[in-house]
Amino acid sequence: MKRVLLKLSGEALAGEKKTGFDEATVVMVAKQVKSLVDSGIQVGIVIGGGNFWRGRTSENIDRTKADQIGMLATVMNCIYVSEIFRTEGMKTQILTPFECSTFSKLFSKDRAMKYFEKDMVVFFAGGTGHPYFSTDTSTVLRAVEIEADCILLAKAVDGVYDSDPKINPNAVKYDEISIEEVIEKSLAVVDMTASIMCKENKIPMLVFALGEENSIVNTVKGKFSGTRVTV
Ligand code: UDP
Repeated sequence: MKRVLLKLSGEALAGEKKTGFDEATVVMVAKQVKSLVDSGIQVGIVIGGGNFWRGRTSENIDRTKADQIGMLATVMNCIYVSEIFRTEGMKTQILTPFECSTFSKLFSKDRAMKYFEKDMVVFFAGGTGHPYFSTDTSTVLRAVEIEADCILLAKAVDGVYDSDPKINPNAVKYDEISIEEVIEKSLAVVDMTASIMCKENKIPMLVFALGEENSIVNTVKGKFSGTRVTV
């Protein structure tokens, strides 16, 4: 693989606490990403915002405004993770689809590619910049734009199951599943909009547990024990 896009949910950053940041988790991610970058792999990152706010869970305010808060939460997450990455010795840049003054630079494909060429880890913060979308959608969108070889989907569970393994102890894990089947069975790997984009743009996803030791590196280097979503 030459270029990958890693998606971390907001909740994954929070560790056991479920909100805010868990530094140990982020340092663990940083060390693995550094090892990928050191081996010549270009890494883009999308981070969710669920550790602070999700627009769809807010009932009392306008959805557009609620989603704007969510998008800003992803920017905060990227600033934090980017700084931890820097303390671990990586060069980073944050790109957003809207102006955030000096906090980030405005996203363009050319800009992203320029930073990848400079061996920088590029954070795609702020989602798509539009309400009613999610960071799942922005993950697929950015992965397609930067021509990533695949999406690395780091989750709390170790792959895709035929039903929720937290609820059904007999849930069966797939080693491989096509995106058509994911859509047909409404398996929530990524949301439906993102799934359709994956299918149309033929971008594969590798789903694995963030909590498993060295799982990001193992996934990229072929020691993969999660679920491969084929296109
Ligand atoms: N969001 C949005 N447009 C986007 C991406 C994100 O409006 O293109 C908002 C939306 O409110 C969402 C929140 O940002 O709930 C956080 O993103 P997400 O729910 O995908 O985070 P995750 O669940 O992965 O932590």
